[in-house]
Amino acid sequence: MPLLSNPEDVIGRRFDFIIAGGGTAGLVLANRLSENPDVSVIVLEAGNAHVDDPIILSPTGWVPQLFNSEYEWGLQSTPQPHSLDQRLFEFRSGKGLGGSSSINCLVYLKPHRADIDAFEKLGNPGWNWENYQKYSKKAESVHAPVPPVRQFRPTYNHDDVGHDGPLPVSFCPIASGVEYPLQKGLSELGIETISTGFGGETAGTYKALASLHPVKMTRTDSANAYLFPVIDRPNLQVLTGALVTKVVTSGDEATGLTADAVEFEHGGKFYQVLCAKDVILSAGAIKSPQILELSGIGDRSILEPLGIETKLDLPTIGTNTQDHFTCTGPAYELRDGNDIITGELIADPDFRGNLKDPYKEIEGPLPLVMSGYAFFPLHKAAANAQELIDKISAKINDEASPYSAGLREVYHVQLELLKDEDVPDVEIMVVPFSVIPMGPAGRAYVNVPPVLSRPFSRGTVHINSADPLAPPVIDPHIFEEDIDMEIITAGFKVSRAAAQFSPYKDIIAREVKPGPDVVTDDQIKEHIKSHVGTVWHMVGSCSMLPRDKGGVVDAKLKVYGTNNIRVVDLSILPILVSTHPQATVYAVAEQGDIIKADHM
Ligand SMILES: Cc1cc2nc3c(=O)[nH]c(=O)nc-3n(C[C@H](O)[C@H](O)[C@H](O)COP(=O)(O)OP(=O)(O)OC[C@H]3O[C@@H](n4cnc5c(N)ncnc54)[C@H](O)[C@@H]3O)c2cc1C
Repeated sequence: MPLLSNPEDVIGRRFDFIIAGGGTAGLVLANRLSENPDVSVIVLEAGNAHVDDPIILSPTGWVPQLFNSEYEWGLQSTPQPHSLDQRLFEFRSGKGLGGSSSINCLVYLKPHRADIDAFEKLGNPGWNWENYQKYSKKAESVHAPVPPVRQFRPTYNHDDVGHDGPLPVSFCPIASGVEYPLQKGLSELGIETISTGFGGETAGTYKALASLHPVKMTRTDSANAYLFPVIDRPNLQVLTGALVTKVVTSGDEATGLTADAVEFEHGGKFYQVLCAKDVILSAGAIKSPQILELSGIGDRSILEPLGIETKLDLPTIGTNTQDHFTCTGPAYELRDGNDIITGELIADPDFRGNLKDPYKEIEGPLPLVMSGYAFFPLHKAAANAQELIDKISAKINDEASPYSAGLREVYHVQLELLKDEDVPDVEIMVVPFSVIPMGPAGRAYVNVPPVLSRPFSRGTVHINSADPLAPPVIDPHIFEEDIDMEIITAGFKVSRAAAQFSPYKDIIAREVKPGPDVVTDDQIKEHIKSHVGTVWHMVGSCSMLPRDKGGVVDAKLKVYGTNNIRVVDLSILPILVSTHPQATVYAVAEQGDIIKADHM
């Protein structure tokens, strides 16, 4: 049973490292920093501990978690003008030990090598694919697949993944049965099944890994992989229910701000712990910038109207946010008699009762870890790819465009990724269950939507109150840049085109979303606007970039203008990676061992 701290154990005490946020990245750091018994570490986590919580451990528990404030922050965006009816969007984010790794959909994928090499090109020495793989392998323990299920086989190279890290990762032994036919359909379009997806070459189709224990079939997260096994270290304290409200600093812009303490709220009262070495913010892409701004570090024009004294004017905080946008559809009703298993079918006890091993144990409405993915470049998806690239290039190079000089430089690197015919710009995923009703009950449905890999639109997240309990204002600027809509539309059309080919077309009874009446590009775009959503992968709000390019932290993850405040979580990514990011968060946090080196 883990040994969690009480406030009285820690209040007023001095710690070498104070970690704000015990989520995915925060608990990796807690483990690695406390490996040295001479160093003291405290984790302050706003949510609860959730030790051995069956909802978290269940691979299907994430849906009830999304609607439960015990596990999730329940944040919303501002109205989005480029969506139908100026919609507000739910911005999901995990709360409690493990953070978002405890509520996510378990998908475990690595980015394209060029996604990561772009970080180094942007002025961050050491942030390249070779180091990514070194640290990713240090984190993961990938287990060999059980005998392949149906024809949908894991295709991967043993040496591309780690085998003895703390985080067990495996291939889910069950699948819906739609994945292989989709692979065959995409192969007719030149998008082939590959074995290099975990080795930095991701354009193609392949089965995703999952943060799933290979034997227990339970979720693995940063809490059960990194924290609970070491929680009895005497130099490590973990306080839950502790909302970090600000970093208390001394000094000024000239000398650099020094974090002396961290203030937190616990049980309605405010306390402090003192800092001997570093304060590390790992509160996620939405909350890490909030803590900085509450501490007087941010854009003076945002802080001063709220009555917050500006200790350090750093207007880049909370800017440059990017997210993965998706939509509903194309989605299909499936024919009977094809051995397809979807969430709707499993809800039927008779259907479940007839399942054979390894399927018979599965239950609940959304039992399947999503494992069927395709990633491809715009060049494969759109006949007018070059024209679209020329258009966005011209806009970026036009001095009259409303971009800062720094963002323009970041865009130039992002443009190189878009031009590269081997680097994915859009993704298709198999969702074998329905989040919204698709048609008559009792039928099987599958949603095969596109996901925009690397948006050009840039959003913001800022405080609009000095009250630390008030939610920050999230404005993702969805589809503000036309190119984003063009790319996701191209992805949508590829997904639909794959359904013309056997064996994929043979399992489909009819398209239910958007349906056969939606044909032209304009109609598809209207459909996407009215069915757009995010898959909750926000990055960029504390970007690791040179300060004059819009940076918040340097390549050692230290906030500019401070002597000892770092950010280590997904918010530091300057450009969104073209895949689901949890593996990247683990790799980033493992690379956080540069913090150790700084204090040797
Ligand atoms: C619903 C959902 C599904 C997802 N599915 C996938 C998937 O299948 N595959 C994938 O690759 N990625 C997925 N992701 C994304 C991925 O899980 C996250 O991007 C990643 O886990 C973020 O890690 P982090 O360390 O940046 O932040 P988090 O893991 O979110 O950690 C932040 C922590 O800080 C705490 N905190 C916040 N504010 C404070 C404060 N003021 N004081 C103290 N503590 C605070 C939070 O409670 C939380 O524990 C999903 C995300 C969500 C939300």
